[in-house]
Amino acid sequence: MPGRGEFRISVTKDDLVFSSAHFITFSGHRCEGLHGHNYRARVTLEGALHETVWFVFDFVELKKIMRRLCNSIDHKVLLPLGNPKLKVEEVGDTVTVAYEGAPRYVFPKADCSLLPIPNTTVEMLAEMLTDRLRAELTSLGAHGLTAIEMEVEENFGQWAVYRVTL
Ligand SMILES: [Zn+2]
Repeated sequence: MPGRGEFRISVTKDDLVFSSAHFITFSGHRCEGLHGHNYRARVTLEGALHETVWFVFDFVELKKIMRRLCNSIDHKVLLPLGNPKLKVEEVGDTVTVAYEGAPRYVFPKADCSLLPIPNTTVEMLAEMLTDRLRAELTSLGAHGLTAIEMEVEENFGQWAVYRVTL
């Protein structure tokens, strides 16, 4: 007999990490230098209990998806495609980055991950990972989920959380 409480599950593991390089732009004319973080993701799913197995979602499946999402941006230079101050262009085997019209970096294309976000802040990374997770859950036919909460930590004690109600 189900109670009146609500359930949610969370996953954060040693392999839900991505070690990536990035820099962000600030308001005004300030742009960080290139540096890296050992990012860690934590995800929470809220929803109804599955009627026959009594869980919100399969942990094994969730870990598998999250590992895949983290691996796709692990050991990469994360570059935002939607930043009006940055021009990120693929030129042959390279990616060139200009900041406010001035050439700034040239990277090997294989080392870059070009992302559909305006700035590589942990907030935007959390939202992007949520969108990608949501698409995977939809394609798996997951049902009964009511919210996804994604936490991305870039340093000990320093993280952003994005939450979307489904
Ligand atoms: Zn940083």
